[in-house]
Amino acid sequence: MPTRHLVVGGGMTGHAAAAAIREADPGGAIAMLAAEPERPYARPPLSKGLWLGKPEEEVFLPEVPGLELHAGRRAVAIDLRARAVTDDRGARHRYDRLLLATGGVPRRLPMGGERIVYYRTLADYRRLRSVAGRAVAVIGGGFIGSEIAAGLAQNGKEVTMIFPEEAIGARAYPEDLAAFVTHAFEEKGVRVLAGQTVVGVEERGTRTLVRTASGEEVVADAVVAGLGIRPDTALAEAAGLRCGDGIEVDARLEASEPGVFAAGDVAWFPCHQLGQRLRVEHEDAALTMGRAAGRNMAGADEPYDHLPFFYSDMFDLGYEAVGRLDPVLETVASWKTPFREGVVYYVAGERVRGVLLWGIFGQIEAATRLIAGEEPFRREALAGAIHA
Ligand SMILES: Cc1cc2nc3c(=O)[nH]c(=O)nc-3n(C[C@H](O)[C@H](O)[C@H](O)COP(=O)(O)OP(=O)(O)OC[C@H]3O[C@@H](n4cnc5c(N)ncnc54)[C@H](O)[C@@H]3O)c2cc1C
Repeated sequence: MPTRHLVVGGGMTGHAAAAAIREADPGGAIAMLAAEPERPYARPPLSKGLWLGKPEEEVFLPEVPGLELHAGRRAVAIDLRARAVTDDRGARHRYDRLLLATGGVPRRLPMGGERIVYYRTLADYRRLRSVAGRAVAVIGGGFIGSEIAAGLAQNGKEVTMIFPEEAIGARAYPEDLAAFVTHAFEEKGVRVLAGQTVVGVEERGTRTLVRTASGEEVVADAVVAGLGIRPDTALAEAAGLRCGDGIEVDARLEASEPGVFAAGDVAWFPCHQLGQRLRVEHEDAALTMGRAAGRNMAGADEPYDHLPFFYSDMFDLGYEAVGRLDPVLETVASWKTPFREGVVYYVAGERVRGVLLWGIFGQIEAATRLIAGEEPFRREALAGAIHA
């Protein structure tokens, strides 16, 4: 009897896991329950390449041979004792190994209802394309907000960004860099309403009015928001699996019930490099953790010991980064060309916790070694630790 592998969630994590299972267990049965109607696709192009001419067909991920894909089906309950998952049409799916790769649910504002596109899926991209009109209000100044604002501006839209922080990316970059990025957006024609909270989203005929606490009013053809996500642990919690900031897993990505694994945006995993549990909402984590979980489901018994990296692109600015980018930490910057090319180190005590490689590519391994403490820490030598 072949092992029955069941993957819940058809995102990048679920896809990476299915591909790894197929590789490690060529005779195993793999089924996937995917709430979205599409087959698995890559999300990063939704806020980048698709706005710069990349054709939609190119976002889809390669087919996994023999994968039984149930697209448009949501898992609604897990029976851990019977090892079965029920979907929203009442069908039961038996498993020997289960992966929960349910990702996250966008945080929403308490107003505005369906007028706001909480940008996360291919359906959201298609909807935004069709309603964007001439003017778009973008709520949120983090990764998604800044990337989508740049993408829309590059498509000739009049973009207004609204967010409560003092500058774009203020939760990740040091103050001077965040100020530079904000200025760069303004130079590209984006109107930036920083330090502003949205208090009203109302219909104005076919358009939408967004009001802020300080009395600014923005009328737009479309409103899009990127306010972060919360891990989608509903299914796991209802089944009695241990959860914290995500589904709690051990070093092998196994949850509190043997045979059940979790990975990607939803997983709360032990990170030995940082000495703490972590939940990472980035592509590299989705791909590497999905693959590791898939291998372990197929019997590999390997720890996940990768420190995920991430990246972003906005207009002509871009970076790769690894570890904790938190400006409450001490930051040490080393610029080759100020705010264009350089490295920012995020330091706590005698340890580097995060590295931002701004305009520098291909140095993730060196940055990871610094964070892992494989190189002795010398504060005075830090500025030269990684070369542009
Ligand atoms: C617009 C955008 C741009 C991004 N750009 C970058 C980038 O530049 N760099 C980077 O590093 N990262 C980026 N990311 C983040 C990265 O794409 C995510 O970390 C990654 O896609 C997470 O994959 P996942 O499979 O864990 O979760 P998700 O992508 O959230 O997928 C989970 C899937 O599970 C489905 N699901 C949930 N519950 C159920 C259920 N009960 N039954 C069945 N299916 C269910 C959901 O519908 C969803 O399709 C971006 C994300 C977005 C949205």
